[in-house]
Formats: sequence, C-alpha cells, structure tokens
Amino acid sequence: MAASGRGLRRALRASPLPAWRQAHLGARGNLKPEYDAVVIGAGHNGLVAAAYLQRLGVNTVVFERRHVIGGAAVTEEIIPGFKFSRASYLLSLLRPQIYTDLELKKHGLKLHLRNPHSFTPMWEEGTEGKVPRSLLLGTDMAENQKQIAQFSQKDAQASPWEPSFPSITRSLRHPLPRYVLLHHVMGSLEGMPGAWGYVQGGMGAISDAIANSATAHGANIFTEKTVAKVQVSSGGCVQGVVLQDGTEVRSKVVLSNASPQITFLKLTPQEWLPEEFVGRISQLDTQSPVTKINVAVDKLPNFLAAPNAPGDQPLPHHQCSIHLNCEDTCLLHQAFEDAMDGLHSHRPIIEFCIPSSLDPTLAPPGCHVVSLFTQYTPYTLAGGKGWEEQEKNAYADKVFDCIEAYAPGFKGSVVGRDILTPPDLERIFGLPGGNIFHCAMSLDQLYFARPLPLHSSYRSPVPGLYLCGSGAHPGGGVMGAAGRNAAHVVFGDLKSM
Ligand SMILES: Cc1cc2nc3c(=O)[nH]c(=O)nc-3n(C[C@H](O)[C@H](O)[C@H](O)COP(=O)(O)OP(=O)(O)OC[C@H]3O[C@@H](n4cnc5c(N)ncnc54)[C@H](O)[C@@H]3O)c2cc1C
Repeated sequence: MAASGRGLRRALRASPLPAWRQAHLGARGNLKPEYDAVVIGAGHNGLVAAAYLQRLGVNTVVFERRHVIGGAAVTEEIIPGFKFSRASYLLSLLRPQIYTDLELKKHGLKLHLRNPHSFTPMWEEGTEGKVPRSLLLGTDMAENQKQIAQFSQKDAQASPWEPSFPSITRSLRHPLPRYVLLHHVMGSLEGMPGAWGYVQGGMGAISDAIANSATAHGANIFTEKTVAKVQVSSGGCVQGVVLQDGTEVRSKVVLSNASPQITFLKLTPQEWLPEEFVGRISQLDTQSPVTKINVAVDKLPNFLAAPNAPGDQPLPHHQCSIHLNCEDTCLLHQAFEDAMDGLHSHRPIIEFCIPSSLDPTLAPPGCHVVSLFTQYTPYTLAGGKGWEEQEKNAYADKVFDCIEAYAPGFKGSVVGRDILTPPDLERIFGLPGGNIFHCAMSLDQLYFARPLPLHSSYRSPVPGLYLCGSGAHPGGGVMGAAGRNAAHVVFGDLKSM
C-alpha cells in the first residue's frame, strides 16, 4: 500500500530540511568539473569517507543514485505521516571515534537507549487464569535471573548474564555463523557495551548528521545522480567518473560505496581488471534470507503475554526487540529448512520493533511504526518462481497471522505496509542478492579476505579506485569503519601522488 503522490509530497513539504540538504540546494547547478575525490554512493560509509576526507582538506563530492541519502541507513515516509527506518533500524556498531571526530551530536544526532531491550512472548495458552509466559531482559541482572527462573531455576542460577545478552539473542535468532554473533556484540551506545538503540527520526537521521558534518566542511552531496562508469586513463589510472546523464567529473581518486559486485562488474571498465579478479568478484556469496516489512498501525500492539495498560501508553516491553516464533531451536531449524526447499518459512522468525514507542516523531499521535525483520525467504522460490505481488502479499499475510496469535487485533490496526523481499532490497538499495551486508560475512569473506584475499586494503587493481562500503573490511552494519579506514588509506596515497 503505497502513499499517494500528492499526500507524500504534502507530508515531505512539512518536514524541515537537514543542513546538508540546504547546502546541496545551494550547490545545485554548481557541480564542478573537477574534485580531488569522488565518492560513488551516499550510504553512511560513503558519507563517513567524504566527511573525513573533506576535513583533511581533500575536496570531495558524493553522488547518490537515489532521491535520498543513507543507503540502507535511511528514513522514508512511504506512508504519509509515518517515518520508517526502511532498511536498518537499530544502532550500536557505529565506531565511537566517528561520533567524536565528526561531531555527530552537534550535527543533530539524538539517540534513544532501550532498557529492557529483549522481549520474547510465548505462543501458548496461559494456565490457571494467567497470561502466557514471556521473557523480558534488560541490564538489571537480578531481574533477568527472575525472568529466566520462570523457565529454568538451574539456568537462572548458572547465568552471569552480561548487558550484551540481548544482542546475542538478536544474533542467535538467525543460525548465523559465530563470527556474526561477535560482530553484533562488539558495538556500544552512549558508552554502554553491547547496547542497541533507536536514532531519533529513524536511521536516516544518522546519515543526515554525517552528511551535515561533511557539508559543513565543504563537501558536496548530490542525490539522483547515478554514476554510470569509472573513468580510467590510457595509462590505467582512475581519472574520474561519468554520470548517467553523460556529465564527466574528473578526480584524482574514486571511492566506491557501492557493493564490490556493482563496483567491479558494472562500473569499472573490465579491460582494466584482471580476469581472475573479475571471476572471483562474480562468485562472491551474496545470498540472503531476509524480508523486511515496514508496517503503519493505528494502535499500539497488545500482546497476550503482556497486556496493554488502559490508555495504550507504551510499556517497557514495547521498546524491546520482540522475538516471535523463536520459542525453541527446532522452530528456527524448520524455518531454515523450508527456505532450503525454496519456500518461505511456514513459521517465519520475526524480530518485531516499535521505534515510535520511544520516538513519537515517527508517527501521528496514537499511531505507531512497526519494523519486522523476518526470515527465511529465498531470493528465488521453488521452481524458479519470482516474488510476484501475490507471493509477497501471501508471505506478509502469513507473518501477520503469526503476529495476530501473539497480539490479537494487530491485523485490524494495519494502515499500510511495505514488503521488501531479497529482490526488492537488491532493486531499491543496490544490495546484490538482497544481502544486507553487500556480501555474506562468512569466514572466507572476512578480514584479509574481504572482499577477496589480497584485496582487503580498500585499494583495487586499478590505481586510484577504492572500496569504502560494507563489502570491504570490517563488513556490514551501520558501523562507519569501512568509510573511515578507506578515507585514511586514500589520504595516505594522495600524499604520495
Ligand atoms: C533490511 C536491513 C536491516 C538491517 N538492519 C540493521 C540494523 O538494525 N543495524 C545495523 O547496524 N545494520 C543493519 N543492516 C545492515 C546495514 O544497514 C548495512 O550493512 C549498511 O547500512 C551498509 O552501509 P554502506 O554505506 O556500506 O552501504 P549502502 O547503505 O548499501 O550504501 C551504498 C549506496 O551506494 C548507492 N549507489 C550504488 N550504486 C550507485 C551508483 N552507480 N551511483 C550512485 N550511487 C550508487 C546506493 O544507492 C546506496 O545509497 C540492515 C540492512 C538491511 C538491508
């Protein structure tokens, strides 16, 4: 259910413009023929790279193909009045140094910590007049132990639960490689190790803050400017880019925030890349089982296991990551097996978040935005079938049926929904295979092997062309590390040019 064009335009007109957008409007038509550095893509990593380079005195321009900046860290008002973190929705991994160096708070960043942060209601009949059981976890260890004791006294006594536990459960809900578990607990928020929280205004607000920081120092950011090609000189060095409208922009270096596959298979002239390199880039594992569903509701969800208070004010569990269909590992395994057979899971794993429970700027009064991170959905369905509208709606209906069993009334409260299957994530955000990290974070695609062994230094086989996005070390998540590291490598190389 998409917003009507007129309604959306009216809603957008009402929002104040971020500082970077005002700087962009000032710069419109002032695209210079030459910069020191061009950044392809205004994902948060591209913006971080631009902000660092510009602060170091490198004259930098960013070209983004979409009408909004942020890549997968974006806020979009796809249903009028409801602002969604359309792809990523929780922040923890952004490197603390980046907050400080880029002065993100000064540039508008506001955060909401969550405590408690994990709520897992059971799909069961309540006994003896009681509501179904649930597990609510936060930073209070004694309270956590009481919660766990509902299920096992032994586990409660044996468990020295750390504050990072909710992040661990967040990762465990995918049977993910163990490294990804570590990746999920290495962050922090407001100095709290392992904490995940909401960004006021949605994830796009972090991209806006980074962009504000970059433009405050003189970087230019242009949206709706697709880079069609990286220009390489007859001597084999980068000399700029060509935009889709034919405009040529010269530069000493080009940093690509696009995925390794887009960068090297689509944008770089193939004659300048070793055949073996191209072959290995084309074989990167980009599979992904995630379908994100963004839902606008006109009522606060009411869980059987934790009924709402009169007046429907959000309760502590509403601010949590709410895990549904996660009661036992057999369920998770069965959900995975379904996808191996080319089906969407019969009982999908659902991470259910209500960011508007802490951030009322996201939805009209009394209404809420709900983020559903769901698994497993194969890119291609059994028999080679694609995700037609009918399939997408059937899957979303199944997810909603499951939610209805935990929170009756949910389906009736839905005002609109935005269903993003792996092919949609690929088409809209430029994520190959729908992979939320540009390419899988499996051990063969990490550290010195990201994206390929011997090519983990952000440099590429073409002198002057660099990767600066999550397909480079240290990988995905709203982390900014790839952008910051790439900027420092580029700055070092520019000094010796
Ligand atoms: C559904 C979903 C949920 C997620 N949840 C979380 C979460 O809660 N927390 C978290 O930390 N991480 C999460 N992630 C992962 C995280 O969002 C990404 O790893 C991260 O945002 C990637 O950032 P990036 O800057 O490296 O690349 P991207 O965000 O992919 O940015 C690349 C940019 O390049 C642009 N581009 C591509 N080609 C061109 C071209 N030719 N010309 C111009 N521009 C181009 C794209 O449009 C895009 O804006 C999630 C991701 C998804 C998809």
